[in-house]
Amino acid sequence: MSTLYRKYRPKLWSEVFGQENIKNTLKNEILNNKLAHAYIFAGSRGIGKTTTARLFAKTLNCKNRKPNDIEPCCACDSCLAIDGGSSMELIEIDAASNTGVDDVRELRKLTRIPASVGSYKIFIIDEVHMLSKQAFNALLKTLEEPPERVIFILATTEINKILDTILSRCQIFKFKKATNEEIIADLKLICEKEGIDVSNDVLLHVAEKSTGGFRDAESLLGQILSSLNQKTINKEDITYIVNKTDQDFILNFVASISSRDIKSCFNIISEVIETQSNFDDYVLDLIEIFRKILIYKYNPDCMENWKNLNSDIKNSIEKTSKELDFSRLSIVIKKLIQVKLDIKNCDIIQLPLEIAVVEMCEEKMDGHSDVMPVGNNKSNNVLMDVKKSASAEATTDKDVSVLDILNDDEPKPDIIEVVKKNGLLNHVDPLKRDRMMKKFGLNKNAVTQNITSTQESGNVLVDVKKNEPEQDVSVFDILKDEFAENLE
Ligand SMILES: [Zn+2]
Repeated sequence: MSTLYRKYRPKLWSEVFGQENIKNTLKNEILNNKLAHAYIFAGSRGIGKTTTARLFAKTLNCKNRKPNDIEPCCACDSCLAIDGGSSMELIEIDAASNTGVDDVRELRKLTRIPASVGSYKIFIIDEVHMLSKQAFNALLKTLEEPPERVIFILATTEINKILDTILSRCQIFKFKKATNEEIIADLKLICEKEGIDVSNDVLLHVAEKSTGGFRDAESLLGQILSSLNQKTINKEDITYIVNKTDQDFILNFVASISSRDIKSCFNIISEVIETQSNFDDYVLDLIEIFRKILIYKYNPDCMENWKNLNSDIKNSIEKTSKELDFSRLSIVIKKLIQVKLDIKNCDIIQLPLEIAVVEMCEEKMDGHSDVMPVGNNKSNNVLMDVKKSASAEATTDKDVSVLDILNDDEPKPDIIEVVKKNGLLNHVDPLKRDRMMKKFGLNKNAVTQNITSTQESGNVLVDVKKNEPEQDVSVFDILKDEFAENLE
């Protein structure tokens, strides 16, 4: 919800909290009429770059502003047009959706249309790092020969992606994340205007949740105000709302990992990226809940000590502790810890978690990698089932390796039938498969279309035994021997 953010976008310098150095420098440049042709506003999202850029434009073009005054009047045509988003002198371009060289050429054409008398034409290019290389070069030409009374403000969350040749022509401002005090001051002003009394600990909580972003803080406050619809708001009132959204992302992720649902995990991650301010914290929360699942698995009494957990979280911990065995839990936790370290060095912040999700979901129960080169749950289940059957039959002394059967130069027709029926060759090293297919007189289709289900594979041993009553054959042995080189 961004309505509060839009509704209360600062219209005056006095309403902008934080970024003191940047504000002072810009104000001085305006008052002394020492303006640069191009600025770079760099810093994370939602911390006031575009707001400052618009205010800068409004101040420069205000028709009623006195030479020694820094605040725009907010009443003249120009101020109203800029506040209303209809100004011809302030052109905002989102580079994320206009990345091409044609877009920049179009922009250069626009720069040639002169500003009206006494005003500046100001271009704000948001997410400028998204421009293609050619587009950057086209932009550079404009910056090299800046038209009269044209000012560029290039906003970016990733200044490291901007060419040095561009940087060297701009005055650079690095926006800092807001402090909790600055965010609280900003939120207080909004609450005052809304006529709602929100307690300080609520505001502090919102500020902490938004980790330095005004936009996130205002969105969260908006969410609280609209869902409570009351004139006084205290900490008790918000526990449910604030925890709810965060909690859903965590519990749904846990459930999706447990059911190995990679697609669902990816959806959750992208939602978290869109709506949550701090991805680092999200990963930490995931580590924490899997840790609790691990502890609970071995010591269910510990739940009594976790008094602050609500019933949804407790249920999830209890349920998941039954679904995940130790080796899987340990893999998940170790991978998440690695994700926490990796995101510091990755430009795409969610990528380490996305990779880990695939690894956590594809990882097999016994910790072995797939026997087949291409990941396939079934192939592993066959081995597991056959292992189970083999150990149940281990008392027989004639435990003949199926490899013997497969290696038999003249396999019996019923054995061929069993091999065919159970798709056994699907689980054979592909290098050896061709040779065996020839021997068993199978074509490729017969092998690939006959991938067995877990249930069927469990019957392999029974089938082999039935067909080979005098020799007690363990399929496990065939597979074991066949895959000995593939297993760890
Ligand atoms: Zn004005």
